[in-house]
Amino acid sequence: MSAEFDIFIIGGGINGCGIARDAVGRGYSVALCEMNDLASGTSSGSTKLVHGGLRYLEHYEFRLVREALSEREVLWKTAPHIIWPLRFTLPYLQGLRPAWFLRLGLFIYDHIGGRKKLPATKTVNLTKEPAGAPLKPGINKGFEYSDCWVNDARLVVLNAQDAAEKGAQIETRTRCTRARRENGIWHITTQNLKTKEEKTLTARILVNASGPWVDDVLGTSLGDNEARNVRLVQGSHIVVPKMFDHDRCYIFQNADERIIFAIPYEQDYTLIGTTDQDFNGDVNDISISDAEVTYLCEAASEYFTKPIKETDVVWTYSGVRPLYDDGASKAQEATRDYVLRQDGKKGEAPLLNVFGGKITTYRRLAESMLEKIEAALGKKKPRWTANSILPGGDFDPEEFDALVDKFALKYPFLERKVAWRFVRSYGTKAWELLDGITSSDDMGEDFGAGLTEQEVKYLMKNEWAQTAEDVVWRRGKLGIRMSEEQIAGLNAWMNKE
Ligand code: FAD
Repeated sequence: MSAEFDIFIIGGGINGCGIARDAVGRGYSVALCEMNDLASGTSSGSTKLVHGGLRYLEHYEFRLVREALSEREVLWKTAPHIIWPLRFTLPYLQGLRPAWFLRLGLFIYDHIGGRKKLPATKTVNLTKEPAGAPLKPGINKGFEYSDCWVNDARLVVLNAQDAAEKGAQIETRTRCTRARRENGIWHITTQNLKTKEEKTLTARILVNASGPWVDDVLGTSLGDNEARNVRLVQGSHIVVPKMFDHDRCYIFQNADERIIFAIPYEQDYTLIGTTDQDFNGDVNDISISDAEVTYLCEAASEYFTKPIKETDVVWTYSGVRPLYDDGASKAQEATRDYVLRQDGKKGEAPLLNVFGGKITTYRRLAESMLEKIEAALGKKKPRWTANSILPGGDFDPEEFDALVDKFALKYPFLERKVAWRFVRSYGTKAWELLDGITSSDDMGEDFGAGLTEQEVKYLMKNEWAQTAEDVVWRRGKLGIRMSEEQIAGLNAWMNKE
């Protein structure tokens, strides 16, 4: 029996969307369903680093670290508007990891990942560097190294957008409720959660990329109620008014052997995270606990001269890591590597499950998944994503400022920081977003924080945005600057559109 699609993917997080894009670009027909908004699961709750994971070296995860490090420059080139290099300062504190140990770790980090453009590690005298200024007296020595920043939720949306432009069918607010094999193919039932409409589609391969829900999907949609493949580990972040003026990030070691980051965020803020604790609650309802807020405030206050209080916190977010359950005793020791498992007997339609995986390694994970898909369906076209560009990313990564200048010249009525935000969010697509606009008045209603009708309409038409939350917390982060009334006003407006 022939099927409508080669591949059906459950889950519109980074892994589902990354696989969809790679597969459709190789000539397979692809459909993907996401029960909520794109990136509404773990993929918008990360620390937003494209990094090798210095800490994973301590757990001997050399394969993962090497692969992740080499992705930094590949992804930066692919989407230079939403991914860019960051310098990290790692202060040395007596009584924690010894200096020789940190230096050795950083030496390995610098050399196993094929670094070409990112600057190398160095030792820094914090009494002389701007990065030392906000730190407590006595923190005199440290190290510096490079990783990258990524706007995680936008990375997901851009993968979905590129996949759709290449012909993939992407449906949001659509849940997979059942999947069964019949006559050698998959029959997949989905329900649109807004209209309640049910549909059954057919596909030759089913990919379960539902992140923290992966075992849940195996149970409710596929009848495997015993599935226990992932260990759910909650991580939370706090956002506070900015703690420092320079552009460095900090990686702080804590007395409990964990680390936390303090990262410049959205120009006026500092992002601090994360925590690491086993999660046994409802995955659909995750939020930071008071204990996590206190932990993060106290851990960062060990380093900053100005202590951080719970009342400084302006926003928080939490996510659940769907880590492959390798039986590690502590949450922070569980592997961050991914495992792809094929289920199904010979001759049966394959089910391919994704367990674990980082934002950083999503492209490589998709390539590994494509190897399995090619083995089942036959090879069509070669690998292509390593030298590809995501929507809006078609400019020289080292010429970002020049692109903002060009944009500001074309739209002189925009304040410089607004022009900057447009180019950071949309890259060269910013021109498309403002096509035909000649004055601020043309932008329509201002919903607050400079978010206008023109931008919201673009997001609804091109990026699957349906609610205010999709716009102000995932496609962008203007929610931090908006009041609850303004967000409610935007929601009401979007409902009428
Ligand atoms: P998800 O993003 O959760 O996507 C799964 C999707 O499936 C969800 O959107 C869900 O709604 C959908 N779904 C579930 N069931 C169904 C169904 N029945 N039908 C339809 N759709 C369904 N990685 C990094 O590289 N760098 C970092 O700095 C980093 N920091 C992190 C910090 C924290 C606190 C956490 C929690 C994770 C961090 N990660 C980081 C890891 C990274 O965020 C995740 O590994 C990655 O986002 C997982 O993506 P995913 O697509 O597998 O899952």
